[in-house]
Amino acid sequence: MKIARVKTEIVKLPAEEPLAGTPPANPNETRPIVVLDMATDDGVEGLGVTYFGGAMTGALRTTVEEIGALTIGEDPSRPERIAMKLREALGTSVLGGLTTLAQSAIDMALWDMRAKALNLPLWRLLGGARERVPTYASGALMRSLTDDQVAKAGRKLVERGFHQMKTQLALPGDTSPAREVARAQLVREAVGADTTLMCDINQRWRPEQAIDIGRRVEDVNFFWLEDVTTADDFAGLARVTAALKTPIAGGEYVYGIAPFRHMLEAHSVDIPMVDLCASAASPSG
Ligand SMILES: [Mg+2]
Repeated sequence: MKIARVKTEIVKLPAEEPLAGTPPANPNETRPIVVLDMATDDGVEGLGVTYFGGAMTGALRTTVEEIGALTIGEDPSRPERIAMKLREALGTSVLGGLTTLAQSAIDMALWDMRAKALNLPLWRLLGGARERVPTYASGALMRSLTDDQVAKAGRKLVERGFHQMKTQLALPGDTSPAREVARAQLVREAVGADTTLMCDINQRWRPEQAIDIGRRVEDVNFFWLEDVTTADDFAGLARVTAALKTPIAGGEYVYGIAPFRHMLEAHSVDIPMVDLCASAASPSG
């Protein structure tokens, strides 16, 4: 079994949020996903996806194609061997960014092929510890929505049976702590006390601001506060984590495995979040 074909395409998904039907910040926006389709000489197919979301989606697609071409002739049942070959081929350009995102799509496709070749679902191949995994509604309760829109969307998610969901703070416009607290309370009220509610800041607060607002919203009982400040400010994150009772989550904005070591050593986060596109194919193995 050898890899014989590597194909890529860009699929533009509508940005409209499907869970609560909330409007996107920009109605003409689409989400361009790079889809990788690999196949072996005996017809086993593997799919991988990766996402950049910016103006360089075309460059990401080219990167997936060019790195993917290096897998032709390789045995997809050995994804670790292929990852090693790719790391050697990429040299120092493997530090992060486009190459990591591209390698992640390849890694996904390889594991997909490996599982299909063995006629097993991937979850079983990876150990199959659980029958079910919890998920949460993400992307519906955005900071771009008005208070009315976000409250309506929250109620809709609850009606549709979601028990766990995520909202955002660091609102556009009025950046006062009072406004942030009012919004947090409004969302909590809309979804009810029994809903597990997470909150993403997307790196928009300073550490001191995170501590200040984080303390003021402790009563809102967020399950976690996510990416409260710059993702590689490990010391700043650690100050916030030490100061707040609410658990701090982070990890989506860093590439590979190495930053997680720094995060854990510095006690920067309570909950490490792994983004499969950014972290799967680590430069350090
Ligand atoms: Mg996030």
